[in-house]
Amino acid sequence: MISLENDIQKRQKELTKLLNEYSYYYYVLEKPIVSDYDYDVLYDELVAIEEKTGIILEDSPTQRVGGDILKGFEKVTHETKLYSLNKCNDIEGLQKFISDVNSHYKNSLFTVEYKFDGLRIIAKYENGLLVQAATRGNGIIGENVTTQVKTIKSVPLKINYKGSLTIAGEGIITIANLEKYNRTTQDKLKNARNAVAGAIRNLDPKETAKRNLDVVFYDIISIDNPELVSSQKLAYDFLKDNKFKTGDLFEICSNASEIENVINKIDKVKGKLDILIDGLVIKLNDVKTREELGFTAKFPKWAIAYKFEPQELTSTLESVEWNVGRTGKVTPIAHISPIELAGATVSRATLNNYEDILRKKLKLNALVFVRRSNEVIPEILGLAQENENSTCIEKPKVCPCCNSSLVEVGPNIFCENPNCSEKIINRLVHFVSRNCMNIEGLNDKIIETLFTECNVKKFVDLYKLTADNLKDLQGFKEKKINNILSGIQNSKNPELNAFIDALGIDGVGEKTSKDLAKKFKTLNGVINAKLEDLINIQDVGDVIANNIIRYFTDEINLKEIKELLEVGIKIKEIDNLNIDENNPIFNKKIVLTGTLPNYKRDEASAIIEKLGGSVVGSVSKKTDYVLAGEEAGSKLVKAQELNIKIINEEEFNNLINNYI
Ligand code: NAD
Repeated sequence: MISLENDIQKRQKELTKLLNEYSYYYYVLEKPIVSDYDYDVLYDELVAIEEKTGIILEDSPTQRVGGDILKGFEKVTHETKLYSLNKCNDIEGLQKFISDVNSHYKNSLFTVEYKFDGLRIIAKYENGLLVQAATRGNGIIGENVTTQVKTIKSVPLKINYKGSLTIAGEGIITIANLEKYNRTTQDKLKNARNAVAGAIRNLDPKETAKRNLDVVFYDIISIDNPELVSSQKLAYDFLKDNKFKTGDLFEICSNASEIENVINKIDKVKGKLDILIDGLVIKLNDVKTREELGFTAKFPKWAIAYKFEPQELTSTLESVEWNVGRTGKVTPIAHISPIELAGATVSRATLNNYEDILRKKLKLNALVFVRRSNEVIPEILGLAQENENSTCIEKPKVCPCCNSSLVEVGPNIFCENPNCSEKIINRLVHFVSRNCMNIEGLNDKIIETLFTECNVKKFVDLYKLTADNLKDLQGFKEKKINNILSGIQNSKNPELNAFIDALGIDGVGEKTSKDLAKKFKTLNGVINAKLEDLINIQDVGDVIANNIIRYFTDEINLKEIKELLEVGIKIKEIDNLNIDENNPIFNKKIVLTGTLPNYKRDEASAIIEKLGGSVVGSVSKKTDYVLAGEEAGSKLVKAQELNIKIINEEEFNNLINNYI
C-alpha cells in the first residue's frame, strides 16, 4: 500500500516536471518537442492523479495558464485574469458539461464556434481607437504586441463604438497565406500555429506584416456598457457590427444532441477549411448565468472545448528511401513507425529534398512530428526529439536506380542518365495518366512490362505498338491487347493543357498546364513563350518559368514532340473566338463546394473553364457564384455572409444549357 502511494507520488512529480518542460519548449521557445495530443494525454493523467490523491504540487501545470513572457517585450497586466478552456474529446464529456450547467440553470442556450489554433490576442479600444494589444501570457501578465498587431490589416484601428472595450481573439494565418509565404522563403514555417506565434511574438513588426495574419475576435472581456453584450450572440453581433473579423461558424443550440450535429458537420469539412482549427468551443449564451457559475483556478465553468481527433502526432523516423521521379529528380520518402492518425494508419510521409531534411534537422531513430490533413499525403513537419541512437541521414551519392552520378540543381538532386529505367517508367506512367493523355487500359505494371519487354522508352513508342508486339507477353490476352491498343488510339486528340501536363516538365502540373494553355492558346504559343510572359502568369515563379524555357529549348524534347505530332496526335487548341461571350459564365469567378449530384468536381470545372469562367478556391467579395452541392462547408457559410449568389446543380445547368 505504502509503496503504491510512493509510486503515485513519484509519477505525479515526474509528470509535473515533464509537462513543465514541454510547456517551456512550447510557449517560450515556440519549438514544441511533443505533439499536443501527447501533451494532453500526460496532462489528463496528472489531473486524474491530483483528483485521486487530493494533492496538487505547487508548480503543477494544472493550476496555471500559458507560459512565461519573452524577454524584450514590455509587460502588460491584464485587467482581469484570462483563463484557459476545459476540454473534452467525446460526446460523453460534452453531455456531462451540458448536464452540469443545466443542473443549475435549466434550458440554457449554448453557442458553438470554431476553436482556432493560433495565438490569443487581447485588444483594447478607447474612444473608438485601438490603444493596446497583448498576448495572453500567463493569464495575468502578457506581452505588449500593439505595434505588431497594428500591422494586421483586418484588425480595425478605429471602430464605431466609442466607449472602453477589451476583446479577445485569436491571431491566425490562413493555410493559403502560409503556403504563399513559404513559397517566398528559404526558412519555411512548420505549421499555421507556429507561424502566427513566431510572427506576433516577434520584436520586428515588419516580420508580422510580411506574414499576412488575421485576428478573429470571439469574446468581450470588458465593456463600459455591458447590457449591449448580455449574451454571446449579442457579443458576436456587436463584434461584427464594429467590423471585427469573426469566425464563420456561430450556432446556437439548446441541447447536447444539437451540438453533436454541429460537431459531426464540421468534423467532415474541417480538413478542407482554409484555417487551422483543433476543435469547437461551446459557451453558455447568457452572460449573467456565466457570472453565477464562475471559474475554477484554470477554466470558466460555463465553456468547454470539444477537441477533434489529432491531426498531428509524433513517431520515430525509421528510414529514408530515395526514389527517381519522372524528371530524374531523386526525392526522399520517410518511413516511420506506424501511427493511427486522423482515421488512417500512417507509415510513410513525404519529404521534399535533402535540404528539407537538413532544415528540419531530421535524424534517423529520432522522434518527428507528422501531420495529416484530409486528402493530403502525410508530411513530416520537423524534429521533435533526438536520442543517443539518432544518426544523420546521408545524401545519396549515386542514383538509387542506375548508379549514375547525381547532379545538384538548387536544393534538388537529379539523375541525368537518359536511360535510367525508373525515370523512364515514371515519365511514361505520368504521360498516360488520367489528367494527361488519359490512355485507358495502361497502369504502372503494364508500363513496366512494355518498357522491359517491348523497349517502349519514348512517348512515341506507345503509338507504334502493334498487336504482334504484345501477343506473347505473359497475361496479355486478346481482350487486354485490344483494350490497350484502342486506349492508345483514342488518346490522340488531347486538350492542349492535358498534352502540356503529359510532357512532364518539372514543376508544371495540372494547374500550371491549364494556365499555360489559357494564356498561349496553341502548342506553338507555349513552345515560343518568353520568360517575361511566363513570369506574368500568377503562381509561375522564376524557377518554373526557367524550367519551361529549358524544356522547350532542348532539341531532344522538341524532337519528341515532333514525333508525336507525326504519328497523328492532334491537339485541341484553345480558341477563345469560339466562346460565346454572352454566356452567363463568361469571365465569372465561381467557387465549388460540397458534392454535386451528377458532376464530379473536375467535370464542373471543365465546363466553367470552357465557357470562359474561372474556378477559384475561396469565397471573397469578388466571387460571382458559389456552386454548392451536398455537405457544403464553410465556403457556403461565407457566401451567405457576403451575400454571394449561391446556385445548385439545377440552376447551374439552366445557366449553361444553351451554350454547351
Ligand atoms: P487551449 O489552446 O486548448 O484552449 C484555450 C484557448 O483556446 C484560448 O486561450 C483561446 O486562445 C483559444 N480559442 C480558440 N478559439 C476560441 C474561441 N472561439 N473561444 C474562446 N477561446 C478560443 O488551451 P491553452 O491553455 O491555450 O493551451 C493548452 C494546450 O496547449 C494543451 O491542451 C496542449 O494541447 C497545448 N500544449 C502543448 C504543448 C506541447 O508541448 N505540445 C505544451 C503545452 C501546451
